[in-house]
Amino acid sequence: MPYAYDPENIFAKILRGEIPNDTVMETEHALAFRDIYPQAPEHILVIPKGPYVCYDHFALEASEAEIVDYTRTIGTICKEMGVQPGEGGAGYRLLSNAGEDAIQEVPHLHVHIVAGRNLGRMLQPAK
Ligand code: AMP
Repeated sequence: MPYAYDPENIFAKILRGEIPNDTVMETEHALAFRDIYPQAPEHILVIPKGPYVCYDHFALEASEAEIVDYTRTIGTICKEMGVQPGEGGAGYRLLSNAGEDAIQEVPHLHVHIVAGRNLGRMLQPAK
């Protein structure tokens, strides 16, 4: 079943300027802003401007220009945060929830960039 994008989701409203956000970076195809409920000293959300529900939707249907811009935006933010391990930074985690099992709250693709503390292991052990 193809993805159906809900234009009333909260990130669509942010993109239309209907609700405020704490912008970190804006490019032709991407917007990055601070998460309203940060889970680490640095917690930034990066979204494409196009109507993509989640990562596979974007990766399979976005244009190459959108994918390059989006990917580079994430890298540039990591660089500006000074967290790149290759440059002596302490590291970061990228996370993107998709669908029910991942408990995706907002149905517009977003990659979380979290950093600034030890983030622990990636997942809770399976029960
Ligand atoms: P997810 O569970 O991956 O869909 O994450 C959605 C994220 O969006 C959560 O971390 C929320 O704190 C964040 N969020 C929800 N509304 C806003 C908003 N208006 N501005 C910034 N972040 C938001």
